[in-house]
Amino acid sequence: MAFEVPKLPYEYNALEPYIDEQTMKIHHDKHHQAYVDKLNAAVQGTEWEKKNIREIIMNLNKVPENIRPAVRNHGGGHYNHSLFWEMMAPNAGKEPKGELAGEIKKAFGSFSDFKEKFKAAGVGQFGSGWAWLVASSGKLEIAATPNQDNPLTQGKIPILGVDVWEHSYYLKYQNKRPDYIDAFFNVINWDKVGELHKKAKGQ
Ligand code: MN
Repeated sequence: MAFEVPKLPYEYNALEPYIDEQTMKIHHDKHHQAYVDKLNAAVQGTEWEKKNIREIIMNLNKVPENIRPAVRNHGGGHYNHSLFWEMMAPNAGKEPKGELAGEIKKAFGSFSDFKEKFKAAGVGQFGSGWAWLVASSGKLEIAATPNQDNPLTQGKIPILGVDVWEHSYYLKYQNKRPDYIDAFFNVINWDKVGELHKKAKGQ
């Protein structure tokens, strides 16, 4: 079966006022769909069309060179956005809980120190890309990637990510990327992030 855009796990307007409905509609229905369509076109008729997208992103170096750039960009776009929709939720808790909260404190000093570093990674990503909280060799780190690259390709497991492509904020925030990242902190699905953290530790 060809790759498909997953259904948004909440309504398009559910993240208002932090992420506006129109941005969500265009981002999910148009941008994510375009990544999926171009990924499908690239892998059609190859063994890669039946693989799991996470496996593909972990093994990009094994993808044939003639389709690798398309798979890296559009497959990365598909995987990143699939994660992103789930990493957000309406009425989400404002801070991590339990074990994850303790590990964030251990790695960064405090939640607000973590927030500052994560935000700086997003603001400082030149051009398009993502800022991430990743699990790497059992510890938490901040990372940033250009375009649609995912830390998995470098062997780091993303447990939280924010899309800093202009398409993710420009309608509401225009040039104010820092304000968008502040707003993003109101919609982080910490339950999901905690779940991804647990899974990352189990690997
Ligand atoms: Mn995007």
